[in-house]
Amino acid sequence: MLVRGGRIVDPRQRIDALRDLRVQGDRIVEIGEHLHAHPGEEIVEAAGWIVAPGFIDAHVHLREPGFEAKETLATGTAAAVRGGFSAVCAMPNTEPALDSSETLARVSFARPNRERGIRARIYPIAAMTRARAGQDLLDYATLLAAGAVAFSDDGSTIADARVMRDVLRALAPLDRVAIAHAEDATLKADGVMNEGVVSARLGVPGSPASAEESIVARDIILALEAQARLHVAHVSTARSLELVDWARARNGRVTCEVTPHHLLLTDEAFEELGAGAKVNPPLRSGDDARALREAVRRGAVDFFASDHAPHTAQEKSGDIARAAVGFSGLEVAVGAYARALPDLSALDFVALCSTRPAEILGLPGGSLAIGAPADLTMFSDHPWRVDSAKFASKGRATPFEGWELPRRIEATIVAGEIAFLADAPTDF
Ligand SMILES: [Zn+2]
Repeated sequence: MLVRGGRIVDPRQRIDALRDLRVQGDRIVEIGEHLHAHPGEEIVEAAGWIVAPGFIDAHVHLREPGFEAKETLATGTAAAVRGGFSAVCAMPNTEPALDSSETLARVSFARPNRERGIRARIYPIAAMTRARAGQDLLDYATLLAAGAVAFSDDGSTIADARVMRDVLRALAPLDRVAIAHAEDATLKADGVMNEGVVSARLGVPGSPASAEESIVARDIILALEAQARLHVAHVSTARSLELVDWARARNGRVTCEVTPHHLLLTDEAFEELGAGAKVNPPLRSGDDARALREAVRRGAVDFFASDHAPHTAQEKSGDIARAAVGFSGLEVAVGAYARALPDLSALDFVALCSTRPAEILGLPGGSLAIGAPADLTMFSDHPWRVDSAKFASKGRATPFEGWELPRRIEATIVAGEIAFLADAPTDF
């Protein structure tokens, strides 16, 4: 396959230039100016597009096994490639949880699988404790051998600090990240949104920023002590960012991610969307969202992650206390990142979507080097309007319904094959 006339952006090699790119089999084999097509070669005309290493969403809930009404590996990876992601990391809060080699093997797909309808690479994240119950440690080396790329009890926090310390000590020699979902259940209590002036005005129970920050602080201290790698998922407050900065200043091996909704939205969204604005951690204040955007600009955030959390329409409806938590993120994430941070350079944008998650999770890809996997994400700055009825995901709940987003996925190539190709711009 010859990708012709695109703007090649590769943060790993510091390339941002008009080049042609050739793929053979499942590898990148050549980059140059004006490459000549070989007889019978498939041509992708990429003029006007940026051609980047395949985007990786390191925080995705694919819901299989156990919650196939919400999403399956097939529908989730269809959504992934439509959203520009050639690979996703699947969180372990399934039923059963991803806490055994047998269950991990069922959801581990280092390559797409046509028969199973799996269009993107799936790298599973194993649980940190048995059944994610926060008590019993697992055999992490065995889980790594079964395909796990990291460890997390995401969706829950390990309440017992001694258990978390033991997990970090056990993971330290494996050089894989422990991914923390930071939320103190006693401070959160029955909170369904950010605790602040908006929750007070609406009379809705709030979960304070300290519910997140106190656990971020605890886990950072424990990770420094254990000399373990800690990755803080979906950072949502200004002070959580300060804590990550504090750890790095002490040579802590601490990284973090931000979501599109925490970059773009605040707790004010509850006034319009009600239960439709419910997510964990909750949408925070305007000052917090501003701090997140500023942290991305100064390089203090390691990568973007959608926290794709699909639910059925029925689960997302109903009263605010009972409605399911989270948004369908894969198909809007790239456009939303661009809307939140229109001034980021192409190199920085691609690093946050591809190169950095590959490095931190230890995944193939993240580069367009000769010999690298032929995973490509091609995008343009065509505006389009979000219409969840067109999602490939079973989850249709998005706080960005009807929004105009300034960046569009044009094509996604996975392992040398076209997994998604947008039509002519009909959406706008
Ligand atoms: Zn989480």
